[in-house]
Amino acid sequence: MSKLKLATVWLDGCSGCHMSILDMDERLLEIAELVDVVYSPIVDAKDYPDHVDIALVEGAVASVDDEKKIRKIRAHTKLLVAMGDCAVAGNVPSMRNPFGPAAILDRAYFENATVQQQIPCVVVPKLLKIVRPIHEFVHVDVFLPGCPPSADTFYTAIHALITGEPVNIPALTRFGA
Ligand code: SF4
Repeated sequence: MSKLKLATVWLDGCSGCHMSILDMDERLLEIAELVDVVYSPIVDAKDYPDHVDIALVEGAVASVDDEKKIRKIRAHTKLLVAMGDCAVAGNVPSMRNPFGPAAILDRAYFENATVQQQIPCVVVPKLLKIVRPIHEFVHVDVFLPGCPPSADTFYTAIHALITGEPVNIPALTRFGA
């Protein structure tokens, strides 16, 4: 039987959720026996595959690129997991919401810059007016809160999602399963 295809995605987050996945340590080998990691910041694939069974998405939706990416991920993924508080509720990235993108860009690229004060027009994507959690853009199947969720939480949740066993984490809410 072919393995499930697993993806992990990094939107507007600090990468701490991915670090927590890596903190599963030797249990990663057990997970690797059950899935093929087809897309992730920690593998070399550049394009999101057409068919993914489970996607763990870190970070909120803060830019036009994030929005485009999460819509594409949803269209090509069976089970989408909002991974960590930024994906679930906006969390740290949404702290910019009261100020608006113009003030944030000004602070980052003028007030805090001592040389080359300018708003970048390449590489940095256009910011959305406010940062929002991913379920405000697409349907989310599983919410995995925490900042970050612990390695134990990841192991329990990922193992359960892969094997189809009941997910037994009190703080975990599963929708549409
Ligand atoms: Fe970082 Fe916490 Fe957001 Fe995860 S939930 S990306 S650890 S700030």
